[in-house]
Amino acid sequence: MLSRFTRPWKFCYNFAMKLLLATNNAHKMREIMEILGSDFPQMQTLGQAGLEIDVVEDGETFQANAIKKAEEVLRISGFPAALADDSGLMVDALNGAPGVYSARYAGEGHNDAQNNAKLMRDMAGIPREERTCRFASAVALARQGKETICTLGTVEGILLNEARGSNGFGYDPYFYYPPFGRSFAELSAEEKNAVSHRKRALEALQEILRRERE
Ligand code: IMP
Repeated sequence: MLSRFTRPWKFCYNFAMKLLLATNNAHKMREIMEILGSDFPQMQTLGQAGLEIDVVEDGETFQANAIKKAEEVLRISGFPAALADDSGLMVDALNGAPGVYSARYAGEGHNDAQNNAKLMRDMAGIPREERTCRFASAVALARQGKETICTLGTVEGILLNEARGSNGFGYDPYFYYPPFGRSFAELSAEEKNAVSHRKRALEALQEILRRERE
């Protein structure tokens, strides 16, 4: 098999490709840049590109939402490539809820504290051994003239019954991560990003791009 060094035009392929990130979330943007920066040195968020595109996330899975968002943003923007993600928390005792409704679990327009409060009400009295859960993130890369690539990353944890820590966002204070013996909200950004669902999805995507170049 030829390596990237014996086929330099393949290695350079993505360098010409400007990537539009379908997010204005600074936290996600930093994580994406850290991991995919060497594949796509030219990245812009919607805001940086002066675009305001709101895609309705009405899919039944994280993958369906991420693919829809990436493809719509690609079509509307005219960029050569667009990357979108959709993520959330899945609790086994609730048959995978909040799932794709994670951002609006307590209802449209509700905040993290209200979503967490509803989750705690729904999980009241459920013992620790039945509080298994995972964060999941689907990342989709849409490119002009190519099939969209979508990868999924997950990280397993236990849902706490009281908040621990004040870092992070969303459900982090209730997500206990056994390998570190702390909740995600007790981790530094670097510690969380090293094991996060988004990181795992982005690395799987990077691996597919690497194989494309071989
Ligand atoms: P979205 O991917 O921005 O649509 O995120 C959906 C929701 O899932 C967020 O509003 C959070 O409630 C939750 N979520 C996704 N990723 C994380 C995470 O890393 N920590 C905590 N909550 C998260």
